[in-house]
Amino acid sequence: MYYFVHQDRFESILGHGPTKSSIVLLNGIQVDLRVLSPERWGTLLSYFTGSKQHNVRLRELAIKQGLSLNEHAFVSLEDETETLCAEETSVYEILGLPYIPPTLREDRGEIEAAFLGELPQLVERNDIILDLHVHSTWSDGHLSILQMAQAAKRRGLRCIAITDHTVSLGIARGLNLNELRRQKREVKDANEAMGPDFTVLHGTEVEIKADGTLDFPDEDLADLDVVIASVHSSLRQPREVIMPRLIRAIANLHVDIIAHPTGRLLPSRPPMDLDLEEVFRAAARWGTILEINSNPSRLDLRDSHVRRAIELGVKLAINTDAHNEEHYDFMHYGVATAQRGWASPADVINTWSVNDLLSYLARDVT
Ligand SMILES: [Zn+2]
Ligand SMILES: [Zn+2]
Repeated sequence: MYYFVHQDRFESILGHGPTKSSIVLLNGIQVDLRVLSPERWGTLLSYFTGSKQHNVRLRELAIKQGLSLNEHAFVSLEDETETLCAEETSVYEILGLPYIPPTLREDRGEIEAAFLGELPQLVERNDIILDLHVHSTWSDGHLSILQMAQAAKRRGLRCIAITDHTVSLGIARGLNLNELRRQKREVKDANEAMGPDFTVLHGTEVEIKADGTLDFPDEDLADLDVVIASVHSSLRQPREVIMPRLIRAIANLHVDIIAHPTGRLLPSRPPMDLDLEEVFRAAARWGTILEINSNPSRLDLRDSHVRRAIELGVKLAINTDAHNEEHYDFMHYGVATAQRGWASPADVINTWSVNDLLSYLARDVT
């Protein structure tokens, strides 16, 4: 506690005590430090994890058993004796529940599901073996195709799809058709250089132009392993213009994935004016996969969208949209977002084998 409140650079100290200190950092973020004995770790962690609404529900369940619940312990309302929990699992056990993972703690039905033994089997980071949205120096990425493949392999992935930008996105040095065709050879070379345990697919992140058409004709899209379609421009079109524009891309039989479907950028750019219910229904209808873009400034689709999309039968892809090696580590955020949307491995195509993926993606041309 002494060390914590005697750092060099922070704005102010809000409190300093033996178990509880709070400071405000120079960027305005408040940091609280709690120090309790290990026997109280479970209640402490549970108290400060998940949403307020979830914790209110836990406290209500405790009261029904004649207990109050705080960060220190369960306390008997009758005689004030303490029951300590060293692990979070013990907190839930006392309440008659199985362990509820932090990503589900929102009071969005997880407590009812836990009582019924119907919590979802959540997708985990280790289930992810493919990343289908990766850029290279052919457009605005920072590494070659082979370097991106090697970096992905180092992180335990089995397959990536190179999906560089297309010509309308001049700011990102988007590829024209000739360049796309030349790129194919380099992808093939990289795939061979990587050996049999790793697959490099050739794809594109094709622009959905303001009029709803795509940058490349169907016959060239059909020639690629993976086609991602994205909106990067004219995001402020009114709903009656932007909806048909997006739906047209979803319904295109050569489009496999819609990247960052709402176009939001955190913290300041709002999403496009979409009727997401209709977007999800169209994606389910046409078998088009929607992306959970893992970049922390996107997280798009977001958690609540993921939940609804799954309910409507949409398949999801968790991609990093990596432009350099470090970006692969964004996958963690995409997986957390998917978990918050109750996604299981079966909902997420990045958990499939390369063969299963390719036969699913080829569904429209076979
Ligand atoms: Zn994009
Ligand atoms: Zn991208």
